[in-house]
Amino acid sequence: MPTIPGMFTALDALPFADRLISLRHALHREPELGLDLPLSQAKVLGALAGLPLEITIGTGLTSVTAVLRGGRPGPAVLLRGDMDALPVQEESGVAYASTIPGVMHACGHDIHTSAVVGAAHLLAARRAELAGDVVFMFQPGEEGQRGAKVMIEEGVLDAAGSRVVAAYAIHVASTMLPLGVVATRPGTILAASDSVTVTVHGKGGHGSSPHLAVDPVPALCEMVTALQTMITRTADAFDPAVLTVGSIHAGSAFNVIPEMGTFQATVRTFSPGTHRKIQAAVKRVVQGIADAHGVRVEIDYQANYPVTVNDPAEAAFALATVRGLVGPQRAFQAPQPVAGAEDFSFVLEQVPGAYLMVGAVPPGTDPGAAPMNHAPQAVFDDRSVLEAATVLASLAAARLAKASSDAVPAAATNPAAAPDTAPDTASGAASNPASGAASGAVSGAASGAVSGAASGAVSGVASNPASGAASDTVSGAASGAAE
Ligand SMILES: [Zn+2]
Ligand SMILES: [Zn+2]
Repeated sequence: MPTIPGMFTALDALPFADRLISLRHALHREPELGLDLPLSQAKVLGALAGLPLEITIGTGLTSVTAVLRGGRPGPAVLLRGDMDALPVQEESGVAYASTIPGVMHACGHDIHTSAVVGAAHLLAARRAELAGDVVFMFQPGEEGQRGAKVMIEEGVLDAAGSRVVAAYAIHVASTMLPLGVVATRPGTILAASDSVTVTVHGKGGHGSSPHLAVDPVPALCEMVTALQTMITRTADAFDPAVLTVGSIHAGSAFNVIPEMGTFQATVRTFSPGTHRKIQAAVKRVVQGIADAHGVRVEIDYQANYPVTVNDPAEAAFALATVRGLVGPQRAFQAPQPVAGAEDFSFVLEQVPGAYLMVGAVPPGTDPGAAPMNHAPQAVFDDRSVLEAATVLASLAAARLAKASSDAVPAAATNPAAAPDTAPDTASGAASNPASGAASGAVSGAASGAVSGAASGAVSGVASNPASGAASDTVSGAASGAAE
């Protein structure tokens, strides 16, 4: 693997190890929920104190945005760390367990926060070499409250004075992915997550005389089954959708026609096109059946989080960078997206970037049997803090170095290639080994998201015997890793 400028190793992180793990434990002991995380915010501000950062805090939420100015001119890149916990009673048995009843860092966001703090320390130590700026985005409210969206509205993507050119986030997994294994993929990596509440209003009456009433129950039942048929007739078999009715309620007695009935469903899709199509079809089918039955219907369709889509070039760059850092056997391309959801999707709708999954299963624990993210028993190994910090710092530094080398005219880096005869793509590939992979990924994506993904998966498995096993596991890992 050729050296990528700006790479950080575990050795670089060692001087910060005790501080970062202490921070992780402190965050874990005092977890907070939603958009208002004053204790976590104070801990982050304390951990960043003394670094040469421009710090602002959120107004609509307790976020922290920190900007590190590099010693050389260049664009800005962004690193995201989410800070919120879950309403879960901890049963992990760790020494630094939650002291707040019913609240737990069960999704590992305490590690993400500490890792972004670690990346700030690593990058600040080499500030003079950095060819541009780094924005550190500490966000509350990932677990369903759209904290990233609020931070975007408050200007985080332009915090350095110009729009960031790339954004990266990691997510740790307490199951399936062994400690130190990193996975990502071009295109869709996580699903869109929607929720639907349908309320059918009829006219109540005696069960013996339905002709004198308007029964909402048959309409409700038809809707539930028709939605499943609609899914199979609407979604491409290779760009699927999932609709699950998880709750249905009507009536109170066997011989009474109720006034109303209701059901709730979750919808998961993997491409913006299918997301739009399914959303429209749900409303059409439900309204059509209501009309057919002469009942009134209210449809509350909430598009919670959009599809999380990795930019193909950024995902290829991130994978190449991480392979250079941890070795090719410990970083692989995930063969398929997973059905969890993330509000980093809002960031990736605005700027190119990549979302990576990092294994945090403690050594000695069977990754296949370890409790998953969100489980009360989930344990994330402390060492994943250092791993994630070096991954994030390396991505930022290497991406700025790449932007800097891309900005140099081809003639300057390669005197043999006359600028008027050599195609841009050829000189780019010659000056940067990662760009070959990136351009391949771009063309795969351009020819169709699904076929690009499939070919990437096959070649990933073929070229790396370990990735077959690991790829099975990733879907399980990340399915619990997000909303
Ligand atoms: Zn989660
Ligand atoms: Zn999470």
